[in-house]
Amino acid sequence: MSVHATSRTATAVVFALAPLLAPAASCHAPRSTPSDRAAGPRLARSVQEAASGEGAGAELANEPKNAAKPVAATAPRRRASGPVSVRLSSLEALPRLELVDGDGTRHIATRAASKVRTASGEHAQLELKAAPGRPIEVGALRFSGAVRVQVGRDGQWEIFNELDLEPYVACVVARELGFGDLPAQAWRAQAIAARSYAVANLEQRSAARPDPYLFDGVRDQAYAGLPLPRNARERESLERLMAAVASTRGSILLEEGACVDARYSASCGGATADGRAVFPELRSTCLASVACAPCAASADSRWSWTAPTEALEKLARERGLGARVVRLEVLRRDSSGRWLEVELVGDARSQRLRFEELRRELGREKLRSARILDTWPGLGEHLSGGLLFRGAGRGHGAGLCQLGALEFARRGWSAERILQHYYPGSGIEDRR
Ligand SMILES: [Zn+2]
Repeated sequence: MSVHATSRTATAVVFALAPLLAPAASCHAPRSTPSDRAAGPRLARSVQEAASGEGAGAELANEPKNAAKPVAATAPRRRASGPVSVRLSSLEALPRLELVDGDGTRHIATRAASKVRTASGEHAQLELKAAPGRPIEVGALRFSGAVRVQVGRDGQWEIFNELDLEPYVACVVARELGFGDLPAQAWRAQAIAARSYAVANLEQRSAARPDPYLFDGVRDQAYAGLPLPRNARERESLERLMAAVASTRGSILLEEGACVDARYSASCGGATADGRAVFPELRSTCLASVACAPCAASADSRWSWTAPTEALEKLARERGLGARVVRLEVLRRDSSGRWLEVELVGDARSQRLRFEELRRELGREKLRSARILDTWPGLGEHLSGGLLFRGAGRGHGAGLCQLGALEFARRGWSAERILQHYYPGSGIEDRR
């Protein structure tokens, strides 16, 4: 393959993104990361296909080492503009990296102790920069701005993409909501929420490290570099998305002068979660539980899954509860009825744990939300095999509900009204 080959698709995307990418492409020296029935089938890349489906910040409450610390009183206020750093953790499992720089130079990189090894030798780090109309290639993904590759103390890859906040937000919106036949106000609402989430979390993390970054997956927001439309229709849709996002440039959600840590999820199942009950570290109080009529009316947000006997036995063994789980009790629910804390009773001992932790262990794609409608056998009844969960919604359920926002936008709601619904009491301000 020619080192100068850049796919026509990628080139077209970069042209489409050009107004937003210009600041990032010239950026140097990184400082250091629903469906309702009507929507589903029509969307080429819909919420259902979004990378995580979990929504922003899903992991934070469960991973102490990456947990967002409570906002320090002294946490600096960050502007909603300038470069952001995104850690590309989804690429870090690859044993070797195939990279193409913005100038067409091709690299094959492998790890050598704490160095990056390429054909030209061993390096402390490898830095690639996009050029106008020529993104950086990392495997099948394309990135604007700069990509920095290094090897961490643990001998694993550390890969960062530094780019401007605006193209980052546009890429997140394209990944989270998709760019099918969607209403512009849904993209606008998602853009403001995603920008607020990024700014608030970078503010919080800057209290712990000088070069804070965001993760590319469920720990933060879905991000996989530049969206790559597959046909003319998707290209046209992506252009509409870019225009919608650009119309919100610099806008974030504010509550009492502080940027809102605007978590969001794929579908809430009828009422959003009480954000602070799900994420105790949240300072923002505007993530209260609110009704979501589109989800309540949508049969598609219902799901069921049976945890197999083997999975429950594995859980019991790993947690030292004995050979099997014999009963499940719910200890605590939030105001919307979502399960917050459960007790797993094994044949040897029992243990309390956060339900989000149980979701993570059993698989969030299977146990899709904490909004459990019923189980079989019923709660507190003796388990002799698997355990059937029936639930509604997908993701943690706090903040904006993507399925609901899409439906409200179709009904003619503005992004501002949608955001006021899901983050009651917040305001919107341009903080460029
Ligand atoms: Zn909803």
